[in-house]
Amino acid sequence: MNIHEYQAKAVLKEFGAPVSRGVPIFKPEEAEKAANELGGPIWVVKSQIHAGGRGKGKFKEAAAGEKGGVRLAKSVDEVKTFAREMLGNTLVTLQTGPAGKQVNRLYIEEGSEIEKEFYLSILVDRATSRIAFVVSTEGGMDIEEVAHNTPEKIKTFSVDPATGVMPHHGLTVAKALGLSGAAAKQATGLVAQLYAAFVAKDMAMLEINPLIVTKGGDLRVLDAKVSFDSNALYRHPEIVALRDETEEDPKEIEASKYDLAYIALDGTIGCMVNGAGLAMASLDIIQLYGESPANFLDVGGSASEEKVTAAFKIITADPKVKGILVNIFGGIMKCDVIARGVIAAVQAVGLQVPLVVRLEGTNVEEGKTIIRESGLNVIPADDLDDAAQKIVKAVREAR
Ligand code: ADP
Ligand code: MG
Repeated sequence: MNIHEYQAKAVLKEFGAPVSRGVPIFKPEEAEKAANELGGPIWVVKSQIHAGGRGKGKFKEAAAGEKGGVRLAKSVDEVKTFAREMLGNTLVTLQTGPAGKQVNRLYIEEGSEIEKEFYLSILVDRATSRIAFVVSTEGGMDIEEVAHNTPEKIKTFSVDPATGVMPHHGLTVAKALGLSGAAAKQATGLVAQLYAAFVAKDMAMLEINPLIVTKGGDLRVLDAKVSFDSNALYRHPEIVALRDETEEDPKEIEASKYDLAYIALDGTIGCMVNGAGLAMASLDIIQLYGESPANFLDVGGSASEEKVTAAFKIITADPKVKGILVNIFGGIMKCDVIARGVIAAVQAVGLQVPLVVRLEGTNVEEGKTIIRESGLNVIPADDLDDAAQKIVKAVREAR
């Protein structure tokens, strides 16, 4: 789960991290009060969307002006103007894709005088099973580009969970970033605060780009992007409360209500599969035969008929879906449960596109009988390869 920058900064502040003062607003009328509260003389008006690259982004609407999604304002009037221009309009950045995202919230923040911008992120390194830090002197820029062109400018290290963060980690960061004086001392504190926040809140990723040194020589968190491990959200109702559903794919929200592992993709073939491995293989083989999957879906080993019905409805509701592939290898999951779920869903919502069903494993004969006797126009398949070829062919013929 992702949250907005201003929410991430509030979380980090609880752990003592140095963030700027700021006020989130939802309506242009709130801009003046927020600006006066902060006092100026410089404000930054920041679009709050779940995507980066806002500074260099562009609004679709001419009325939003030419200045991007993060704007420096030198007066209260300018804050008000920017708020009016930005709120409700669509910001397109490198990370939003061409459709862009509507800006429904702004963060009005006090302006910092920036001496230098750095990059710092924390993530779970699966290779070492540890929490790892990534730091670079090349902040504010596309870190992927830095990693590709000048990998020597990126320093990484991981923290031993038995000791936790140690003073030497702070020194490593200070050295990697070439910090001196107060900022070097502050690095030790910041590393400990960020690590504490990361562990306590079950974060999956924390990215600060840029981390800055101010003209006054202090370290400051100027941007913050946080995502949380969704498997641990049950422990953090205060984080769940920060969820902004307007930022999420409605199909994924619906799927999460049924505890389905569903991820929306761009293609035309809807997939219902049990087991993550078989689901991945199904996506690959569809691609192999020249079409693309519309989703990843693992209905799991113990899905009920109700869950299968919900999953099927989510797939058929997607207008991009031109054909559906059900690929079930019944182990713990039983083929007859899948068959009943599919039929219940089709009876409820109808079926406008070709459907290929491949069933194998536990109760396969019952499953096949249920589908045969349902009178549904289902194309049966014998194995994964056969199933993929049949759905690709059916989708192409229907075009
Ligand atoms: P994004 O990464 O989405 O473009 P950032 O929050 O990193 O958004 O902002 C882009 C740039 O705007 C930063 O690299 C920094 O130069 C500038 N900036 C952001 N917040 C402030 C601030 N409070 N004061 C001064 N400059 C800022
Ligand atoms: Mg940034």
